[in-house]
Amino acid sequence: MDIKNYQPASDLLKDRVILVTGSGDGIGRAAAINFALHGATVVLHGRNINKLEVIYDEIEGLGAPQPAILPLQLSSASAIDYELLVNTLEKQFGRLDGILHNAGILGERVALADYPVDVWDDVLNVNLRAPFVLTQALLPLLRRSDSASVIFTSSGVGQEARPLWGAYCVSKFGTEALSQIFAAEHAGEDNIRFNCINPGGTRTAMRAKAYPDEDPKTRPTPEEIMPTYLYLMGKDSHGISGQSFDAQ
Ligand code: NDP
Repeated sequence: MDIKNYQPASDLLKDRVILVTGSGDGIGRAAAINFALHGATVVLHGRNINKLEVIYDEIEGLGAPQPAILPLQLSSASAIDYELLVNTLEKQFGRLDGILHNAGILGERVALADYPVDVWDDVLNVNLRAPFVLTQALLPLLRRSDSASVIFTSSGVGQEARPLWGAYCVSKFGTEALSQIFAAEHAGEDNIRFNCINPGGTRTAMRAKAYPDEDPKTRPTPEEIMPTYLYLMGKDSHGISGQSFDAQ
């Protein structure tokens, strides 16, 4: 099947509860809206509550199921913050059918010799530590789903290292490993799958920061890469685990 042109049923995600991290902007925003439009109750996560409220209103205005809002700063989240998040989801929904680990930061485009260690820590915390801790903490809720999908977000530099991509590149290599390890360790549970998506160069604020001289119009919009996200989040990908998909 050509997943990039996947055409989902309109009710693909009906009654599913799906957490999208970094849903206030860019690819996460498009994924949250698309998941909701296909029937999901989306838990909007981000660090900026004002941005989340805008998406919340947008989803309600589209007549999609009412979302929930869960703010959390991933660069400094503590064990107690994660515990609170799990308790909130447990109380409100009792289970979780999917996570899109999308939140990410670029860090600096400088050589490792000059890479600021505090930025390194931030990038690794947001891009790699948070998806690990969140997935670990939410496993009990995911196990209650009949078909849970965990999607990690990788990158072209998550498969082939490139100079000047520093902590970002390392975090995305780590993300690919994280996804493969979770998949292998849960291979016996056919109701949970773990996969990676590499969005490819997409028209967002992060892409503009990484390539300031590029004409943004030469890159697809987040909306255009949604078929792969919908395919992996919905039941048509049941049984597929431990794989990495290019959305373009
Ligand atoms: P954006 O910068 O547009 O959006 C990133 C989102 O993550 C924002 O909503 C942002 O919140 C949130 N976020 C960042 N840091 C934190 C934090 N500390 N705590 C909570 N939320 C946070 O990026 P993209 O949409 O372009 O990227 C989405 C994912 O896709 C990332 O993982 C990125 O690495 C990956 N990717 C993107 C590519 C591209 O070309 N765009 C290519 C390859 C991979 P806020 O709105 O507050 O800033």
